[in-house]
Amino acid sequence: MPKASFEYLNGELERLQQKGMYRLPTVWSGASGPWMETDGRKLLQLSSNNYLGFTGHPDIKKAAIEAIEKLGAGSGSVRTITGTLDIHDELERELADFKGTEAALVFQSGFTTNQGALSLLGTDDLVISDELNHASIIDGIRLTKAERAIFAHKDMDQLELRLKENDGRKRAFIITDGVFSMDGDIAPLPEIVELAEKYGAFVYVDDAHASGVLGRNGKGSTDHFGLHGRVHIQVGTLSKAVGVVGGYVAGADVLKRYLIHKARPFLFSTSQPPAVAAACLAAIRLLRRSQPLIDRLWDNANFFRTRLQEEGFDTAGSETPIVPILIGAPDKTAEFSRLLLEEGVYAQGIVYPTVAMDKGRVRCIVTAAHTKDDLTFAVDRIVAVAKRTGLLKG
Ligand SMILES: *Cc1c(COP(=O)(O)O)cnc(C)c1O
Repeated sequence: MPKASFEYLNGELERLQQKGMYRLPTVWSGASGPWMETDGRKLLQLSSNNYLGFTGHPDIKKAAIEAIEKLGAGSGSVRTITGTLDIHDELERELADFKGTEAALVFQSGFTTNQGALSLLGTDDLVISDELNHASIIDGIRLTKAERAIFAHKDMDQLELRLKENDGRKRAFIITDGVFSMDGDIAPLPEIVELAEKYGAFVYVDDAHASGVLGRNGKGSTDHFGLHGRVHIQVGTLSKAVGVVGGYVAGADVLKRYLIHKARPFLFSTSQPPAVAAACLAAIRLLRRSQPLIDRLWDNANFFRTRLQEEGFDTAGSETPIVPILIGAPDKTAEFSRLLLEEGVYAQGIVYPTVAMDKGRVRCIVTAAHTKDDLTFAVDRIVAVAKRTGLLKG
């Protein structure tokens, strides 16, 4: 027998390289912020989810430090044994109050939140999912025994068809991202809710990119559309605008108590360290006073998107601080991203299979921490690269 060897993995890595899809993580020196340093170069970055600059906020850092001093570095257990400390309970009560729901249940990340919340689904259920939903939803659904159906992105006719086909046979759950991470567009939640009510279906919205961004004080897409009491499951993340890490389900108390017994990441993985829970709690409290900062985020986003459109770029369906610039083929997209880096701007290229083969894009994410000068600098550099590569006529 030949010796076992990982040599075989190189074939796939070489294929990725040829397609311009091979990329190891950039290592940054220092903290998250609008300007970051790598390889001794300072770059303007347009790729973080640090929408409000909360990762470095003094109140949040202080809460984390105090929690470490008082409660230690780790929680010591899963939630269902000795890993639910006061701070976890307090965070959940704060989140439920913030979201205006009966209850909230916290998980270690947004990813595990979806995995956990979707364990709600069984053989008697049908899940109907937007084709562009996040990977954690797709994987979470795969782990269930529910029947699955997909509807084309935001296509309400197709969604209705799926509901009609079901004809009340199974309990139906409609699942959508609140804000889609690749195009930066917003789910048509009012239409989804109407269809759900017409067919007696549940609505599940994942507000990872809407938490701290959409709605009053960043309460999310349900609040943005005034749909309180009509969305059954609201997932939020504590990792993006909230600036720490974690996720939660906000909804009915019975749902929370059910998930406590069934959600495997809750049952079999250690709870958030005290510093994380305390920092999340401080961040949610801060959000309640942060409308001016959220307004600034939107002002920046609208300024940046409008400037790009004026220059002639295709920003796809963007209507949030996520602003893609459509380029096309994977290799062209990677090249654009690389040239932009030479000009001092870091914006992540996103290519097939994350998006369609001809829909490669440089995805820009604007934050409240960017200044207008930063954004103007970015637009100027993007235009320069676009003229050099022929994306825009020089
Ligand atoms: C980022 C994201 C997640 C994962 O959240 P983490 O807290 O980073 O694990 C889940 N769902 C959606 C829609 C996301 O965009």
